[in-house]
Amino acid sequence: VSETRVVSEFGNDSVAKVYVAQFPDGRMVEFVESLQPPRPREEKWVVIVSSLFGCPVKCAMCDAGGDYRGQLSAEQILAQTDYVVRSRYPDGIVPAKRFKVQFARMGEPALNPAVLEALSKLKTRYTAPGLVACLSTVAPAASGKFFEGLLDVKENYYRGRFQLQFSVHSTDAKERDAIIPVAKWGLGQISRFGDTWFRPGDMKITLNFAAAKGSKIDPAVLASHFDTRRFLVKLTPLNPTKAVARRGMETMLDPDAPAESDQLVQALRDEGFEVIVSIGDQEENRIGSNCGMYLGDGAVKSS
Ligand code: SF4
Repeated sequence: VSETRVVSEFGNDSVAKVYVAQFPDGRMVEFVESLQPPRPREEKWVVIVSSLFGCPVKCAMCDAGGDYRGQLSAEQILAQTDYVVRSRYPDGIVPAKRFKVQFARMGEPALNPAVLEALSKLKTRYTAPGLVACLSTVAPAASGKFFEGLLDVKENYYRGRFQLQFSVHSTDAKERDAIIPVAKWGLGQISRFGDTWFRPGDMKITLNFAAAKGSKIDPAVLASHFDTRRFLVKLTPLNPTKAVARRGMETMLDPDAPAESDQLVQALRDEGFEVIVSIGDQEENRIGSNCGMYLGDGAVKSS
C-alpha cells in the first residue's frame, strides 16, 4: 500500500484478519481478509474492502453510519486489495480457486462511482483466475447511473463471476424504511433491474436479509416480485454491533434456537427460492470480518 499505512490489525491468519489503514490525509478505512476453515487459502480466499469513509446511509444495525467523510478513489479502494494480495503473494499471482473481492465493508458502494473504475482495474491487477467480484448494496434511489455502469462492468469483465447482493432486510415497506433510512429502490425496481442484469451463466442475484427476531419477511411477497430462477434469498445473522445493542435488536438466526428461522427457510423454499443460511464462524464473528469496525468508537457496517 504505497501511500497507505496499516496502523493496526486484528484477528488471526487461520480465520480472519481486520486491517485498519490510514491514508496520507489522515482518513482511515478498514478492510478484511477471511478464510472458510477447513478450506485452505488456495481454495477460497475472501477480501472485503471499504468504498466510503464511513457511510451517510445510517442503517439501523450498522455502526458505519454517522461519521461520513467522503468517497475513496479507485486507487484507495485497490490499495486495500493490494495490501493483502502483496502480503500473501508478492508476485501478485493469487492461486485461490475462488478469490472473492467483496465491496461490502464501510460504505454503500453505489454512492461512489470510483467503485466502477476499481472493479474494472481489479480484473487485470493480479493474476487471479479465481477472481469473483461481489457487491452488496441497499440500492439507493439516486444511484441509477451507477447500476447502469455496474451492468457494463459485469458484462465486460465479470460474466458469470459477479455476485450482486441487495440488502433488503424486510418485505414490509415501512419496516424497510426504518432499517434503511434513505430513498431506495422498492422490491419492484430491484426485480426489474435484476431481470435486465441476469443472463444465462451469471450468478443468481442475492436478496439478503440480516434478520432480526420478528422481522417481516414474507415469502409470498418475495415470490410475487422475484423470479426464483434469477434471485436467491440469503439469511444472515444480525451482527453484534453497537447499534444493534443500542436498539435492543436480537438476531433471528440463532444456532441455539433455530425454530423461527427454520420455519422461514422452509416457507421460502416452498415458494421455490434457493435459500442460503449464513451463520458465520463464531470466531469470525468475534474478529468482526462479517462486519464490525475497530475504527473510532467501533463503527460497523453490515450491508
Ligand atoms: S449497512 Fe451499508 S449502507 Fe447501511 S449504513 Fe452500513 S455501510 Fe452504509
